[in-house]
Amino acid sequence: MKVSRITVAAVSAVTAVGLAACGSGTSGGSGSGGSGGSIKVGIKFDQPGLGLKTGSTYSGFDVDVANFIAKELGSTPQFVEAVSSQRETLISSGQVQYVVGTYSITDARKQKVSFAGPYFIAGQDLLVRADDSSISGPDSLTGKKLCSVKGSTSAANLQKKYPGVNLQEYNTYTLCVDALKAGSVDALTTDNTILAGYAAQEQNKGKLKVVGKTFSTEKYGVGLKKGDTALCTKITTALNKFIDSGEWKKSVDKYLGPAGFTPGEGNPPKPEACS
Ligand code: GLU
Repeated sequence: MKVSRITVAAVSAVTAVGLAACGSGTSGGSGSGGSGGSIKVGIKFDQPGLGLKTGSTYSGFDVDVANFIAKELGSTPQFVEAVSSQRETLISSGQVQYVVGTYSITDARKQKVSFAGPYFIAGQDLLVRADDSSISGPDSLTGKKLCSVKGSTSAANLQKKYPGVNLQEYNTYTLCVDALKAGSVDALTTDNTILAGYAAQEQNKGKLKVVGKTFSTEKYGVGLKKGDTALCTKITTALNKFIDSGEWKKSVDKYLGPAGFTPGEGNPPKPEACS
């Protein structure tokens, strides 16, 4: 078929208008909003059910949240490992645009970063060896060796509420799991979500158990550069959409369900307005 010059011109004019409209519709707003192209996003790499790297694939509830936000921003995420103690630094130095990594919203952290959310509510619990009946909750920790992670609220809460307890702080929770299995510590303390994921891992089945007495409220937020209200607002819109569309529940069922984990009271939460 022969295409006339006029048709070609008309088609390219329409295309040009279309592209221009598209461009102005997706860009603008926050300079760090990350519209188009790839953006760096911090997640956990070693927390099954939440943020897990297996070969070159990433899975878990937090990974779903991170991907959903990136899609809403019109960007492709490139994942960077954000261990607990590095999260504020990764954000404030601009090495990542945002962090979705079992990251509790706290006043102390708000001095350094801003948060969108909460998008999930967890609670601190204990993981012990399956054959250990001597630990039934945080009140039976006297004389026990505990493990948690540097820069986590779990370590800070424990020291504050149970100052007499012998706490060792490692860099990652998997190091604590290894120490617990090896017998060099008696319990691992952090969020019940994380602990359920470890207890359900094939290699830990029958060896570890979650005590099931939570002793804190952990509101998970998406960490971002302090004061970037434009980005915070976009992420909050994305979180509301994630929750309201049913994607939140689907992801929770898919990733936390197999570990026998049911979200506690207050879930799904209503994300707060950005200030
Ligand atoms: N949610 C707690 C925190 O933000 C413990 C889990 C973690 O270290 O990621 O510190």
